[in-house]
Amino acid sequence: MYKLNTEEVIQKILTPKVHFPNAAFEQYQGMGMSSQRTRDRLIKRLITQGIENLEVLEVMRRTPRHLFLDEALASRSYEDVSLPIGFGQTISQPWVVAKMTAFLLEGEQRPQSVLEIGTGSGYQTAILAQLIEQVYTVERIEPLSCIAQERLARLKLDNIEFAISDGQWGWPKAEGVQFDAILSAAAPEAVPEALFEQLKEGGRLVIPVGGQSQAQRLMGYEKRQRGIKETCLGDVLFVPMQAGVVK
Ligand code: SAH
Repeated sequence: MYKLNTEEVIQKILTPKVHFPNAAFEQYQGMGMSSQRTRDRLIKRLITQGIENLEVLEVMRRTPRHLFLDEALASRSYEDVSLPIGFGQTISQPWVVAKMTAFLLEGEQRPQSVLEIGTGSGYQTAILAQLIEQVYTVERIEPLSCIAQERLARLKLDNIEFAISDGQWGWPKAEGVQFDAILSAAAPEAVPEALFEQLKEGGRLVIPVGGQSQAQRLMGYEKRQRGIKETCLGDVLFVPMQAGVVK
């Protein structure tokens, strides 16, 4: 198949008018430093940094990241950086969000369900909810989950289930449940066994691995009949995966 070059991808993504999934998205388009023009500049940067998945780029183009940050930081929403969201946590860097999401979508079968560990601001959740039918998201810090739930409701994204729980144990609400895809936004020293158990055969898991004092690697896994296939997607810096729940 013919592969588009960087310039062609930029044209293809940024030339059409933005297609909003519902009226709420249109309402939160923003202005000035959170305008469509500013968002488009970020998308262009992601493309030049090697993001090629057109669906992911389109969804990130229309999603108001500024809605997931405090007003004081809104002017920096479309920089390709992680930013503080309180409780010592951060909203993930856009390039990382794009890279992780694309990995999940590029498996052999299109995922219909995804488990996210670390809801945080809810931004990554909003991206997943526009691409995958059913999203399950776990956060250990209750106030963060509450704020994210409120923001995602404002965007009228209603295919998301929330849990306040320690995501090292996966989705807490059902025995034997399995997902087509799993994404973790918090870095454990080693991948918790529960996450492989809750992944369907043929499914993909993407997760940063490594402690705070050592380098972290963004790892992609695919569960095969005969074992796990792993790919390193790059060096990253995430907040650590921590145990227990904060009320
Ligand atoms: N995707 C989010 C990332 C937030 S940072 C965003 O872009 O906003 C990672 C999040 O993982 C933090 O909110 C942190 O509280 C959460 N986290 C850390 N360890 C966890 C665990 N064991 N279970 C659930 N969430 C966890």
